[in-house]
Amino acid sequence: MLITQILSVAVQTVGAAVGSMMAAWAESPDLTPWYRNALVGLEVGPSGAQWGSDPRDTAYASRFNGREIVEAARKAGAEYVVLWARDGEWAYYDSKRMPKCPGLRDRDPLCEGVAAARETGLPLIAYCVVQGGGWALREHPDWGMRDAQGHPIEGRFCLNSPYLQFILELLDEMAAYGVDGFHVDMLDQGFGPPYGCWCDHCRARFAQWFPGEEMPSAVNWDAAWDRMLEFRYRTCEAFEQAVTDHVKRHYPGKSVDFNYHGYPPFSFEIGQLPVRHAAIGDFATCETGTWAFSPLAVSLTAEFMRAAAGTKPYQVVMQRGVRMYHDQTNRPINDLRWELFTLLSHGAQVTIVDKTPFEGQLDPVAWHHYGLLFEEAKKYREVFQGEPVWDVGLYFSARTRDWWAREEKDRYFTSFYGAHKVLSRAHLQWGGVLDETVSLERLERFPVVLLADTAILSNPEVELLEQYVRRGGRLIITGVTGCYDRYGRQSRNTALEKLIGARVITVREELDHYFSFEGTSPMEEDFLKDIHPQWPHLSYGPAVVYAPDEAQAIGSLYAGVRTARQLEGKQDTIFPSPAGPAIGPAMLVHTVGLGNVVTLAVSPGFAAGSEYRALEPQYLLRNVIRSRLLRGDLPFQVVSPEWVDVCVRRLADNRYRILLTAYAALPASTTPKRPWVLPEMMTEEPMYRADVFSRAQILNPRASRKDTQLETYEWGVRATVENVFEVLDVEVAAPDTPQ
Ligand SMILES: [Zn+2]
Repeated sequence: MLITQILSVAVQTVGAAVGSMMAAWAESPDLTPWYRNALVGLEVGPSGAQWGSDPRDTAYASRFNGREIVEAARKAGAEYVVLWARDGEWAYYDSKRMPKCPGLRDRDPLCEGVAAARETGLPLIAYCVVQGGGWALREHPDWGMRDAQGHPIEGRFCLNSPYLQFILELLDEMAAYGVDGFHVDMLDQGFGPPYGCWCDHCRARFAQWFPGEEMPSAVNWDAAWDRMLEFRYRTCEAFEQAVTDHVKRHYPGKSVDFNYHGYPPFSFEIGQLPVRHAAIGDFATCETGTWAFSPLAVSLTAEFMRAAAGTKPYQVVMQRGVRMYHDQTNRPINDLRWELFTLLSHGAQVTIVDKTPFEGQLDPVAWHHYGLLFEEAKKYREVFQGEPVWDVGLYFSARTRDWWAREEKDRYFTSFYGAHKVLSRAHLQWGGVLDETVSLERLERFPVVLLADTAILSNPEVELLEQYVRRGGRLIITGVTGCYDRYGRQSRNTALEKLIGARVITVREELDHYFSFEGTSPMEEDFLKDIHPQWPHLSYGPAVVYAPDEAQAIGSLYAGVRTARQLEGKQDTIFPSPAGPAIGPAMLVHTVGLGNVVTLAVSPGFAAGSEYRALEPQYLLRNVIRSRLLRGDLPFQVVSPEWVDVCVRRLADNRYRILLTAYAALPASTTPKRPWVLPEMMTEEPMYRADVFSRAQILNPRASRKDTQLETYEWGVRATVENVFEVLDVEVAAPDTPQ
């Protein structure tokens, strides 16, 4: 993240607004912005100045050639190319504002690239970094961030300083070359402490934005710090909006986008909110990638972007190296295909980052891979369209991220990522619901809404959730949802208690909890698929002890046993203790109006995301969604290995498309910094079955690949697939027939 990035965009055809806009553009195709139609592209930049650079290293980027890159990108089938024009140390063109990379001598890669782009018709986007320190900060220390004591924060620009004008001047220089747009990278305000900024520019702006209020002098998690977080969000927003306004005013045909950091695993420290900052620019862009962001949650990143970007296209950037952007390695082609097709299936436009070797050559293995990837992606272009079909809305609370998790962001993200894992592995169709834009209309797009440790819920949010349930919605509440106030302090939420149908007796922040069910009632049997009855199962994570009022209480919650030594503080409780006494019900079921609320005292999301990732809590959540709170309007169920991402699109009332993307990698945990475990890469193509179960008859099943075998049975259709990616089209004889 300190270093790179990208650009491009996604074609999101969902929504009447986008549909009508696309129809309008279709009538005058010349006016269609490049990012509306492009599916795949490349970002190409040099490798060697990301941690500083010395002008004596004249070999650096000496062969970084804009024409060669654009022509290679065109040949590989890229639909746009983002060309590195400026990083913290150097300009990679003849700049009058900052030094040019000395290895380039009298060459100008941006000029070379634009000339080649004009000849080939390939959109060329200029890459410009904002954060990361470097030459400009050394020249202008007064543009740097300051901490609360006024000390400089190393390597960070203040976004309220005159640095903005410098960036605009760089963009003017790049615009003069005739580029098609700008990818502006790194608008973060740091990825952790110390936080800023308290410089004179910021103090003046704070006084202007919050008249009569003092800037806080420390991180206090109180009303003053709330204003400071808002100040930081507004700072990012104002900078990005100023850049956007400048581009739109002076270069109306050129695109502008910002590498966005409002999505998990980023938190308040960045200075961005999920929706508010995705909304700035022509489209929203973020990164996935093994090295930092979402090795195990690629689909989550894409769907989060769908939810955050609203009607705008969204782009996700991936890497070709096995560890991070700058290592000169290549992931196996099947591993790249898995990530690419997962992103495309979830509606993203995809950029692959290519970091050239030190001198700027093009790695033949990487570029061979790009050709294969782009050819296949474009062959499947139309299959990524269609209306998503939802089973579950996964709720995300930025307020909980900021004020409950605070500086321990995994406190919340463990639950959020874990809940995604459960949904994804059960092949439930899920999308995001974000607190910044939640409304009854948005909630009602989902037959089921899941709150996974949504610790902070405002009264308006609870009112919306209650309306949603009363009108027939089905709500699942887990863990410590609603147990904290807007500042992250433990607090009673009586409105939520009423919806749950039970009172909160104790909020337990210890992490060793267990649940069990007797398994003697038909309802319990439903919940117990794959879970042994009458035995306590670990659900690692926080829990809540409830006393039922209107709700029906089922099963038992257990605390971990505490030994005499632990009670005396002579032994810690980091390792989960065995089950101790029963302390409350495991589950509460409450009918409200036309809908239901199921509350789990434990947190299956946290358990699934934690180091003690037992399967029983994951099965419990899956069983709850599948059994009692029956799925939405999908007339079939896809059963396939958990390592297959299943994405369903509705093409017409009775026609569906099922996108299958498999990730079958070897087990490995040999990372030197144990217990940090890198996922292993997929080398070979897997073979697997996807069974489409339906009570209604499945008609005209079709597969996109000749070697996929289709067999029709009374219960539905079985596809035997021998590829990382496959697409099945099915028609269902009687739509909306529940299983
Ligand atoms: Zn400042």
